[in-house]
Amino acid sequence: MNTVVVGGGVIGLAVAWRAQQAGLNVTVIDPEPASKASHVSAGLLAPGNEQLYRMEELLRLSLASRALYPTFVAELEEFAPAGYRRDGVLDAAFDEEALAGLDRQQAFQEDLGISTERLTSEECAKLQPAFGPVLGGLLSPDDGAIDPRVLTAALLTAIDALGGTVVRQRVVRVDDHSVLLDGGESVAFDRLVLAAGCWTHQIEGLRKAAVPEIRPVKGQILRLHSETPLLNITARARTGERSLYLVPRLDGELVVGATYEERGYDDTVTADGTRELLTRAAQYLPGVGDLELREMSVGLRPGSPDELPFIGPTNVPDVFLASGHFRIGIQLTPITADIMLSYLTDSAPHAAAEPFKPSRLMG
Ligand SMILES: Cc1cc2nc3c(=O)[nH]c(=O)nc-3n(C[C@H](O)[C@H](O)[C@H](O)COP(=O)(O)OP(=O)(O)OC[C@H]3O[C@@H](n4cnc5c(N)ncnc54)[C@H](O)[C@@H]3O)c2cc1C
Repeated sequence: MNTVVVGGGVIGLAVAWRAQQAGLNVTVIDPEPASKASHVSAGLLAPGNEQLYRMEELLRLSLASRALYPTFVAELEEFAPAGYRRDGVLDAAFDEEALAGLDRQQAFQEDLGISTERLTSEECAKLQPAFGPVLGGLLSPDDGAIDPRVLTAALLTAIDALGGTVVRQRVVRVDDHSVLLDGGESVAFDRLVLAAGCWTHQIEGLRKAAVPEIRPVKGQILRLHSETPLLNITARARTGERSLYLVPRLDGELVVGATYEERGYDDTVTADGTRELLTRAAQYLPGVGDLELREMSVGLRPGSPDELPFIGPTNVPDVFLASGHFRIGIQLTPITADIMLSYLTDSAPHAAAEPFKPSRLMG
C-alpha cells in the first residue's frame, strides 16, 4: 500500500511513523517539515485543562492520548530522544480568585482520574523558588511536557530509519489517486492523508465539502534561556481566570506562552505580543528580566469550525483527514496516529474515533 501523507507537522509525521512501522510504504510531502505550529509549540501535556471543561469528547480523547504517551515515547526513543518529561505540572494561584479556581479544577481532575495534590504557598515556593508571592497550587504529578522540536526530529529519524520517504515539496493539487507537486511531478497513492494544518483546505482538487475550512489562530510565544533552569517543573501561573504557561527544559530554556489572536494567516511577531508575554511572565517570575531572550515566534493553530480535530475518512474515496487539532495537537499526537492507523490498515474502528470523523461537518 502506498500511503502519502501531505504535511510533516507533528500530526503528519506521527501518522507516517506509525504507518511505516505497520508495514505500509509511506511518503511524507512537505516543503519544510516540522516548521509551522509544531515547531513553535510549547508542548505542554496536561489534559485537565479548564478549556476542555465543556468539551467532554475532546477531553476523553485527550486522556486516551495521555495514557498512550509513555509507550509512544519509549518506542520512538529506540530511534532518537523524544524530549519527554513526566515530572508534574503545577497550577499556581497568584490571587484569591485563582486560588478558588484550583478547588474546582481539583474536583474536575479527580473525577477524571487525574491524580492531584494541593500545595500550600510555602510548598509552592519550595518547589519553584523563582516564583513571586504565590498563594497556593495544584500539582498534577503525572502530567508533563515534551519538546516538540526534539519530538519532530525523532519522528523524522524514525521514518527514515524504517525506510519511509520525505519529499521536500508542496502539494498543489489532489487528482485521482495522485498528488501534483509544485515541482511539476506527480506522486501516486493508494491512500492519502491530509495533515497540512491550517493550510489543509487550501489544497486544490478536492470537493469543497471534503475538507472543511480550518482557520488559523495565531499564537506568539517566547523562548528565554538561563544557565540553569529557572523553574524545576512545568507550570501554569494563574490570576483570575487567566493563565500563562511556563515550560522549562532541562537545558535552561524557558518557554512562555502564548497569545491567542484571530488574525487570519498573519504571522508577524509584534511588539505588543512580546510586551504582553514579558509583562505577564515578570508578574510571576521576578527574575525573568535577567534571562537571555532567544526567540519570539509565531505559530498558527489549526482550528476546525467546531474546535474538534478531524481524524478519519473524507467523502473522497481513499482520502483521509488528520487536521484541526487546534491548541492541543501535541497532546493528541499519539491517539491521532493510532486512530489513523486503524483506518489505513482497515482494522476495526478505534474505540475513540467516532466523534472525530470528518463526516460530522460534511455536506
Ligand atoms: C504558540 C503555540 C503554542 C502551542 N502550545 C501547545 C501545547 O503546549 N500543547 C499542545 O498540545 N499543543 C500546543 N499547540 C498546538 C499544536 O502546536 C498544534 O495543534 C499542532 O502543532 C498541529 O500540528 P499539525 O501537524 O496539524 O500542523 P503544523 O505543525 O502547522 O504542520 C502543518 C504542516 O503542513 C505543511 N503544509 C502546509 N501546506 C502544505 C502543502 N500544500 N503541501 C505540503 N505540506 C504542506 C506545513 O509546511 C507544515 O509543516 C500550540 C500551538 C501554538 C501556535
